[in-house]
Amino acid sequence: MSKNPVHVIGGGLAGSEAAWQIAEAGVPVVLHEMRPVRGTDAHKTDGLAELVCSNSFRSDDAAANAVGLLHAEMRLAGSLIMSAGDANQVPAGGALAVDRDGFSDAVTAKIEAHPLITIQREEVPGLPPAEWDQAIIATGPLTAPSLAQSIAEATGADALAFFDAIAPIVHFDTIDMNICWFQSRYDKVGPGGTGKDYINCPMDKDQYFAFVTALLEGQKTEFKEWEGTPYFDGCLPIEVMAERGVETLRYGPMKPMGLTNVHNPSVKAYAVVQLRQDNALGTLYNMVGFQTKLKHAEQVRIFRTIPGLENADFARLGGLHRNTYINSPTLLDPSLQLKSRPGLRFAGQITGCEGYVESAAIGLLAGRFATAERLGQALSLPPSTTAFGALLNHITGGHIVSDDEPGKRSFQPMNVNFGLFPPVEAPKVEGKRLRGKDKTVAKRHAITSRALADCRVWLGLPTRAEAAE
Ligand SMILES: Cc1cc2nc3c(=O)[nH]c(=O)nc-3n(C[C@H](O)[C@H](O)[C@H](O)COP(=O)(O)OP(=O)(O)OC[C@H]3O[C@@H](n4cnc5c(N)ncnc54)[C@H](O)[C@@H]3O)c2cc1C
Repeated sequence: MSKNPVHVIGGGLAGSEAAWQIAEAGVPVVLHEMRPVRGTDAHKTDGLAELVCSNSFRSDDAAANAVGLLHAEMRLAGSLIMSAGDANQVPAGGALAVDRDGFSDAVTAKIEAHPLITIQREEVPGLPPAEWDQAIIATGPLTAPSLAQSIAEATGADALAFFDAIAPIVHFDTIDMNICWFQSRYDKVGPGGTGKDYINCPMDKDQYFAFVTALLEGQKTEFKEWEGTPYFDGCLPIEVMAERGVETLRYGPMKPMGLTNVHNPSVKAYAVVQLRQDNALGTLYNMVGFQTKLKHAEQVRIFRTIPGLENADFARLGGLHRNTYINSPTLLDPSLQLKSRPGLRFAGQITGCEGYVESAAIGLLAGRFATAERLGQALSLPPSTTAFGALLNHITGGHIVSDDEPGKRSFQPMNVNFGLFPPVEAPKVEGKRLRGKDKTVAKRHAITSRALADCRVWLGLPTRAEAAE
């Protein structure tokens, strides 16, 4: 080998894509995958890029869906995961679903056949040795315990989570501000606040009691055996809190104290649901303390009974599951490099993205960044207007860290969604402003066409018009 290889640890969605991108750019790669020497609780085969659960890459609509847009950008960037997915597609309406074995076989065959990739079937038990001067850790949500332990030791105990208790996130522009209002409890300004940092949704007594009943009766997802993680009191699911007594939530996350409804100042709310800004753009708000095991459809049904959230569009629904991921906004630089150890990058779900496609996309970026370093080229970050850039920014910095809950981790894994993109004005039609669904569709089209154009420039590809000539 003429150049020192880049070492990629983990041959899942992210690691396979990273290895491919690096090798396609002419740099040798050693890909370390522990299966079949050591398994995980979810993987069943020794194939690379095994899909551990659903066989869907979700929507393939690049014009109106954020993950569909990410598909399109990855195709432009020569993604192995997308080409293997396209070649193994099964019918699934507007979604891209794949034959999981055919897909994994295709990825494995391509990687095995690449002259610049060496696969080593072995567990990497700790952080890469110093001589691996360019390395990528892409060991996923089920990272083997001894490596997870080493990462925790190197980054600090608070920096690595072993499961995520996630609260739903709502698109700000779908919250009814004629019912809700901005106010921090007791108008506290805090270190970085304004006194109006929360969105408050008021409930009267009947609404509160009906809500608690709905939580208790709502269908919950069952934990799989391997997910048998104990609850920590700091992040109990709301329905578990509700089981402890009908008033428990009113003394916990739904307490109405220190708040005055600007729309109805003389009436004190019986309970309040609070939402806190989740991204720097202010387009997403998370429901404070609303981590839950309710089934997704039940969350939508029940949470839309909250006054002001009747038409809420959820960027992410709540959940609680086993997931190893690092506190990326604190630990990583904008090119996914561990700040405390240059040359070591993280990729995939362990960085705090969520989903097969997002994991592969972050693998693609980490692979390109490592390649640029190995070749002595300048690093070029994707523009924040692209799906690549929007997702990368969420992971490495766009997320707001909560000041009012010291010690609490607030960075939570997330799928790509339109709330992560810089906003656009909805185009007018015949000089008139669009409203409702038409406005949403027009905005999405404006975001996706801007993203694809910017992605082409970033990748050095001809514009669509030039390509068509
Ligand atoms: C049970 C479960 C179900 C999921 N279901 C879905 C779903 O339906 N849809 C969806 O979009 N996302 C799902 N996800 C989330 C996520 O998108 C996938 O886990 C995805 O595979 C993450 O890609 P990755 O490359 O980061 O990790 P993985 O695909 O898990 O790849 C990591 C690889 O690293 C290897 N490895 C781990 N530790 C070591 C080590 N020390 N040395 C060498 N190799 C190591 C593993 O064997 C594995 O092959 C699920 C996650 C889990 C855990």
